[in-house]
Amino acid sequence: MDSAGFPHLWHAKYAREHARRFQLEQIASVTRSQAPPSNSTSAGCNNLHPFSHPTPIPVPAPILHDHSDGLLNLQKDAGNILVGIVGAGAAGLYTAMILDDLEISYEILESSDRVGGRVHTHHFPGDNKWNYFEMGAMRFPSGPMMYRVNDLLQSRLGLGDKLLPQLMTDLDGNQILEYNGIRRFQKEVEASPNTDWFNDSTENGGSVPPEFIKRGLVDLLVAPFAPFREAFLESWSKGWEMLLKYDQHTIRSFFGTEFDDGFLKKEAYPSEVINWMEAVTGSGVSSVALSEIILTVLKVDRTSMHDWHCVAGGSSVFIEAMIERLSSKPQLSRRVTRIAPTADPTRPMSVAHIDAKTNSSTSTSTSRYDYVISTMPLPNLRFVDMEKCNPGHGQRQAIRSLTYNPSVKIGIKFKSRWWQERCGIKGGSSRTDRIVREVVYPSYGIHDPGADGVLIATYVMAQDAQRFASLIKGHDTPEEKLLIDLVLNDLTALHGFDDPEFLREQYVDHLAWNWAADPNAAGLYSHFLLAHYTFACQLAGLTGGYAMFGPSQFGDVYASCGQPAAGGRLFFAGEALSENHAWVEGALSSAYEAIHKLLYAANLEDKLGQLRERWGNPNLPEYEESDMRKVMNDQAFLGALFSSGRARDACAEALDEYLFSSDWEFVEG
Ligand SMILES: Cc1cc2nc3c(=O)[nH]c(=O)nc-3n(C[C@H](O)[C@H](O)[C@H](O)COP(=O)(O)OP(=O)(O)OC[C@H]3O[C@@H](n4cnc5c(N)ncnc54)[C@H](O)[C@@H]3O)c2cc1C
Repeated sequence: MDSAGFPHLWHAKYAREHARRFQLEQIASVTRSQAPPSNSTSAGCNNLHPFSHPTPIPVPAPILHDHSDGLLNLQKDAGNILVGIVGAGAAGLYTAMILDDLEISYEILESSDRVGGRVHTHHFPGDNKWNYFEMGAMRFPSGPMMYRVNDLLQSRLGLGDKLLPQLMTDLDGNQILEYNGIRRFQKEVEASPNTDWFNDSTENGGSVPPEFIKRGLVDLLVAPFAPFREAFLESWSKGWEMLLKYDQHTIRSFFGTEFDDGFLKKEAYPSEVINWMEAVTGSGVSSVALSEIILTVLKVDRTSMHDWHCVAGGSSVFIEAMIERLSSKPQLSRRVTRIAPTADPTRPMSVAHIDAKTNSSTSTSTSRYDYVISTMPLPNLRFVDMEKCNPGHGQRQAIRSLTYNPSVKIGIKFKSRWWQERCGIKGGSSRTDRIVREVVYPSYGIHDPGADGVLIATYVMAQDAQRFASLIKGHDTPEEKLLIDLVLNDLTALHGFDDPEFLREQYVDHLAWNWAADPNAAGLYSHFLLAHYTFACQLAGLTGGYAMFGPSQFGDVYASCGQPAAGGRLFFAGEALSENHAWVEGALSSAYEAIHKLLYAANLEDKLGQLRERWGNPNLPEYEESDMRKVMNDQAFLGALFSSGRARDACAEALDEYLFSSDWEFVEG
């Protein structure tokens, strides 16, 4: 069967194909006749080759046990297993909910003094109902791409009556677009998208050749992807083959290159055109992997994502509802610093953690588990010593180099909702090339005359966020006073107010949040929406979120970190490990996959059945589901084997047995 008719599945298949190729490479490395590369055992290069792990894992997962090693008696039933979950964001809490349901015990270690991770609602002082803004996740679409998050919010947490429509555009089209100092209403631009509204054309003093302006930004952004869509619609394998051919490209290099190579015939855009596109989509976003954008643009259409919602009271409401249901609450302010296997057969994994308030090593405690699921963002793993877990070469690379996208949000509380009262704007966003870039108006409280005047005055990503970061130094610092002054100036100009003092009089309070400076996001950042690109795509009838992986990074990360380390005792989850990265949905599905692999590695067949029955995605076609299961099983086994520290011969033997017993076959696409 082929998935040609289900664009929302293409990204998942892309990830799985990468995992398969990686698995084949691993298998070939065992069966290859030549010795390991000579430098793999040289000083400083240890661990590069799977057979050069210095320390065998003393108690690997049951899937690696055979009758001869005498470890079978260590096989536990699910009731005796204790799982350590690192991180209490969406992925960690969902992991806990599933384990509760499967009656498997767990503990959660969280470095922050709060739960939720990148789901974080900030409430300004006061008890009013609409007195908040979202520092992280704020909108949740419906549709087949977003099965888990909707199932969680509506069915499992019963929050259906708290879901409010998230207005992606202001109903009356009063949102503002402002570029090159020219302000327009979005409704004007939408009515005639191929007009040079912002004087970008060389005919009007800009740098863009007029023929490109006449074709319109949307066509320029999306049309080059049409041959990919056609190829995928013809057959998955044709689309995959085509995608692989251009997998090394960034958006900029693809748009800037002419192709006539039998696969694709397309012109090169001049750099002025690409710069113009970037001015609208966000500074620096052209360095994103081409295949990421293609897959997202192809999978995200009005049928796969629609009816956007936000949660009344803030997204943290659903995090609190998750916590309420857990039998074991997260231990807060416990920063994990080391994960290591031990020889103790009772609880073979050791997790060291310190008091995150002091970060003092004298506060170190150690917890013991049978298995560990880490949901911390991959860059945080850089700060965790897991050398003894024998991480693979690909895992090291992913943890070191995965591109996360910096993002900054500034919420301001005003005395009134002046944007509704004076500009007639209800919901949606205004966009500009000024430093504020995107202003997000609340979709909540718009019919409540007493609603608080809180809005997201700035939502920026990529390079735009980096520029802002130097001014985010703390609420009353001189830098932040300057920052708020700049933002108020921009808001004044963007909304066309003559009186420069009006918004200063309206200002009550603010919070500026730089995800890049949050130590619990690894001093790094989440990838997220290329909102301006999204905007352009919305005009084309598309809408969605875009991750910031560099060329070919996602496939590599999924393939390598999708496998466990520590001989099948340490598993990785978190949004980056899902094709729906940059969404809460991705965090949830990564948790499901990690648990599947854990149960498989632990030989807990019954629990695997329960997992699938109670937490599987019923909308997945059967052939997709079984394909996904196969890849996850192989990931669990191969990761366990290759991180076990066994010698090549022992690996080859175990591999033979596995391939034989699991009737292993490589099925292309
Ligand atoms: C600005 C922004 C806007 C977004 N908007 C949306 C949106 O509108 N819709 C949507 O669906 N998604 C959105 N997202 C994405 C969404 O928030 C994330 O995909 C999701 O919340 C990630 O969940 P996670 O559990 O994978 O990671 P996190 O939420 O990052 O959780 C990881 C947890 O691990 C903890 N941790 C880190 N290091 C350690 C350690 N050493 N020891 C113990 N604990 C540790 C962290 O404190 C954190 O709590 C947005 C993200 C951002 C940043």
